[in-house]
Amino acid sequence: MPFYDPKHLEVMYDAATIEARNRELGAQITADYRGRGELVLVGVLRGSFPFIADLCRFIDLPVEVDFLGLSSYGSRAESSGIVRMTQDLSEPVKGKHVLVVEDIVDTGLTMKYLLANLQTREPASVRIASLLHKPEGMKVEVPIDYVGFTIPNRFVVGYGLDFAGKLRNLPFIGVVVGDKPIP
Ligand code: 5GP
Repeated sequence: MPFYDPKHLEVMYDAATIEARNRELGAQITADYRGRGELVLVGVLRGSFPFIADLCRFIDLPVEVDFLGLSSYGSRAESSGIVRMTQDLSEPVKGKHVLVVEDIVDTGLTMKYLLANLQTREPASVRIASLLHKPEGMKVEVPIDYVGFTIPNRFVVGYGLDFAGKLRNLPFIGVVVGDKPIP
């Protein structure tokens, strides 16, 4: 028996489907950045950790990997757009190509804040790779250069995405149905 209640968790993308998509994204990123100079993958903590770990192994280039932490103020239901940086990059990105690796873009407010912040550091370029995108939730326009899956406006969990701090370790992406998924 798994630790969660499968009755209350519907699988949206299983592990094999996620892996296949990561392989495609990795090949596309490899083709786009080959011969273009230094590339640093910037994972947004905490939700992007499985995605960046898997994606980076499908990129056939000598990339650097760095992380920063972001957290929104207020409840998820009403994304305030006020974003707090809980952890900064370890190294400057001046003159390097930055590929932000994010778990999900919903309103776009978090990415808008991050793009503005990163631009002040004079990178050679900044692009965004997001595993998931909910276009119905968009409040501000942010260009997402690499999207894993476009999904409807539902609250998803697993593969990095949390439910009250838990379920990030599920190997699939799921939707909570009905009652609580953790008994
Ligand atoms: P945005 O600023 O685009 O509205 O929100 C981005 C952040 O909100 C994501 O990095 C993620 O932490 C959180 N988020 C948005 N939608 C979901 C969702 O469906 N499930 C979970 N677990 N987090 C979400």
